[in-house]
Amino acid sequence: MNQPRPLVAGNWKMNGLRASVSEAEALARRLEGNKTVETQVMICPPATLVALLAAALDGNSILIGGQDCHINPSGAHTGDIAAEMLADAGASAVIVGHSERRADHGETSKAVRAKAEAAYRAGLTAIICIGETEAQRKQGETLNVMSEQLSGSLPGAAVSGNTVIAYEPVWAIGTGLTPTLDDVGEVHQHIRTELTGRLGADEGAAMRILYGGSVKPGNAAELMAVENVNGALVGGASLKADDFWGIISVYSGR
Ligand code: PEP
Repeated sequence: MNQPRPLVAGNWKMNGLRASVSEAEALARRLEGNKTVETQVMICPPATLVALLAAALDGNSILIGGQDCHINPSGAHTGDIAAEMLADAGASAVIVGHSERRADHGETSKAVRAKAEAAYRAGLTAIICIGETEAQRKQGETLNVMSEQLSGSLPGAAVSGNTVIAYEPVWAIGTGLTPTLDDVGEVHQHIRTELTGRLGADEGAAMRILYGGSVKPGNAAELMAVENVNGALVGGASLKADDFWGIISVYSGR
């Protein structure tokens, strides 16, 4: 079975003003000038910039994603954004269950699953984040937590065409820390085994599993070379075109 096409997605979090569109445009020029890059590239800006970026990058290969969505298509939910609104603004994907949302907004795996279902309803790919805390890793609970979060968060309708899994150890996000390559390999293999058990051999092998947590140009090549790592979800290093390009281009000419 062929390896799934790698995806490198940038999560801008609560960063970016209209002027930041120029970073995305600079990235687009890099991609345009280097056709050997086989990576699918996505930027997930704050909701305020989704339509602007989608318009600025129209006709370009960079995909746009949201960072969260509500479970309903519309209604009295002040401050929330529906998956349909993201799609209407030009997004083709949405991150759900990021650990910052699980922690800051008390999102449970059940809620994450409902959000992934909302994404499918709107025709968006759901990027479902899972990951252990530092305490859970120290207690040797990492693989159990992955199984629990996967079975709780993954909708029954998940297939490789509508879902991407992002393994993001909570303690590695924004800290400059990363697991050892062996640890990354162990968790990704575990997730792969869970996926094939659930979806069957072909679909389980085709679903992309991203690694996220302090991916930088300096460590991207070794992390992306780990078996069953099919790309990256990148926070801080996705904000500057040069840094993000340094990660995307590790797939160049492979
Ligand atoms: C993230 O927020 O998804 C992330 C991986 O952040 P960082 O790359 O900054 O660790």
